[in-house]
Amino acid sequence: MAGGGMTRSARAVPVLMYHHISTSPGMITVSPDHFAAQMAYLANAGYTTIGSMQLAAYLAGEPLPKKSVMLTFDDGYLDNWVHAHPVLQAHGLTALCFLVTSWIGEGRAPARARSGAALPPLLNHRDGEMAIENGESDRAILRWSEIDAMREAGTFEFHSHTHSHVRWDQMSADADDKCARLARDLIDSRTTLKARLGAASDHLCCPQGYYDDDYRRVAIQAGFRHFYTCEAGSNYPGNDDNAVRSITRLEVRDRPTSWLASRLWVHTRPAISRTYLKIKR
Ligand SMILES: [Zn+2]
Repeated sequence: MAGGGMTRSARAVPVLMYHHISTSPGMITVSPDHFAAQMAYLANAGYTTIGSMQLAAYLAGEPLPKKSVMLTFDDGYLDNWVHAHPVLQAHGLTALCFLVTSWIGEGRAPARARSGAALPPLLNHRDGEMAIENGESDRAILRWSEIDAMREAGTFEFHSHTHSHVRWDQMSADADDKCARLARDLIDSRTTLKARLGAASDHLCCPQGYYDDDYRRVAIQAGFRHFYTCEAGSNYPGNDDNAVRSITRLEVRDRPTSWLASRLWVHTRPAISRTYLKIKR
């Protein structure tokens, strides 16, 4: 490819990590106002939001638009339907959502923001965790009907965040037991996604972005090739072994657009991104 062509491709792709977009303040929560402003910034600044297939192709050497970014949401909270989906739809932006497949409920989709109807109550992070522990995940987590509507609208694609969200490395006394339980967990997740969505991808986000050597081996055996971490950084075609890729992500804070703009400026430039992270550490 000619030099001029090369400069048009992204040199690095930042992958942003969100959890809650909610009016209920708490941990790992971005307010709907900040989120709307952040998305308006991406759209106005000419960013392209990419999907899982595009990221995979990019990491394998294919070009991407210069200003490319990926949006990810972990855990599949109800507020993603209420407050994130309508904003993405308004701007024509897309995101990935990592689902804990045993938490997802049945029933009709409640109202979402910008629909004019009364919105469902949204639990803050701590109360949501307690609801899930008490077997009431439906109060905090997406339903299949919402997932279907988001897929139809093209705002979200959905991938595995395991079936149980259990950290098997902390729950099992020995490595064999840990691996067996993790394998079961990943298979259950894939089976559920296949049954409900028609397919399960090879993109995996493990709880807390935790991967040790056992995790990687078991996940590869289960059919996963792209591992989303909670490690900060940017992503570019590199020398990951074989076709297995670790994807670094930037946790988005509940901050105004200027904060996001500066992070994207840094992390769309590989050398600056690496230097910045070195200094930060
Ligand atoms: Zn999680």
